[in-house]
Amino acid sequence: MENNRVFLSLSQQSGFEQDYVKNALDSNWITSGGPNVSEFEEKLENYIDDESLVVALNSGTSAIHLALILLGVASGDEVICQSMTFSASVNPVLYQGAIPVFVDSEFDTWNICPENLEIAIKDRIQKGKKPKAIIAVHIYGNPYKIDEIHSIADKYQIPIIEDSAEALGSSYKSKKCGTFGDFGVFSFNGNKIITASSGGGLITKSKLLKEKAIFYANQSKDKAIHYQHSEVGYNYRMSNICAGIGLGQMHILDENINARREMHLFYESIFKDIPNVKLYQSINEDYFSNYWLSTILIEPDIENNINGESLRKGLEIANIESRPLWKPLHLQPVFEKYPYYGNKVAEDLFKKGLCLPSGSNLTSEDRNRIKEAICLFFEKK
Ligand SMILES: *Cc1c(COP(=O)(O)O)cnc(C)c1O
Repeated sequence: MENNRVFLSLSQQSGFEQDYVKNALDSNWITSGGPNVSEFEEKLENYIDDESLVVALNSGTSAIHLALILLGVASGDEVICQSMTFSASVNPVLYQGAIPVFVDSEFDTWNICPENLEIAIKDRIQKGKKPKAIIAVHIYGNPYKIDEIHSIADKYQIPIIEDSAEALGSSYKSKKCGTFGDFGVFSFNGNKIITASSGGGLITKSKLLKEKAIFYANQSKDKAIHYQHSEVGYNYRMSNICAGIGLGQMHILDENINARREMHLFYESIFKDIPNVKLYQSINEDYFSNYWLSTILIEPDIENNINGESLRKGLEIANIESRPLWKPLHLQPVFEKYPYYGNKVAEDLFKKGLCLPSGSNLTSEDRNRIKEAICLFFEKK
């Protein structure tokens, strides 16, 4: 029997998406902005807390770009960014002609390291330029060291863009990720915890900044009868159709998070008896991860050919997808010429790490296959 492929992270429908999309089509509101967009923003605002405002955009990348623009990041400015993340965290820095400065991870959360962050800030200031912003990321849904990072940012008065693209529903000390930074960012791309087919959210506490973000996202149209523009504009607003899908997905957001956390428990049960493997775990109760992806570190065993890549191949034989961790950005050809501060923690994580199938749609049959393939791999060794 041919086995279907088990994927890393697929979207799952609630069934309500079609109603919202049908409403948009029936009312002929099939452009950007519109009733679904406003309702999606409201639902997200209610979900995260009482003070945050959300601007629905066409991608998480656009949200990061607008955050940089609203913080006044311009050509030649420096922006600190966590090295271990997806390239979209930092690409908008280059769109602005600004200079990324990469900072290493720490082993507890795999996110931006407080010590190296402060070293980087001091050194950049000493070299003559105070960084304009810090992009901190909750990778795989795991909150970064919020208290430590924000106290350093406060000390030097540098704003934080909190990249929560992977962390919708995660929280720190019971406060939702995305609400800690000067700006927060969500992604509703197809592989994230919920999807709008594509889309993003910019989070701010200021009504004025929300209005300004919408202004930029709608081509910076001045108030006039004709098309009048005093500033550069962007076509970044979410469409009413995509927002319909996002609204449908809100019905199963908590369910999806529970399902992903179940997957994490499932891996916990498998790996507790395998000494070479350490499953990523939140360090204490303060850190609540949506476990968007379950990830492991494999201590290499050269004699028995055990390492991340051999396990990946072992899973591939069973038609199960797994993938290395984010390759640190300071090692990427496009970014390697920019400054980096660290002790190769992200490099070490990248060498030993693997992301495992974590979708909320995985069946018990899928799980059995995953378990069998992992056990087979380690038994043969
Ligand atoms: C997905 C992702 C983004 C970008 O979001 P898009 O909606 O795909 O543009 C940014 N940062 C991180 C960490 C991501 O995982």
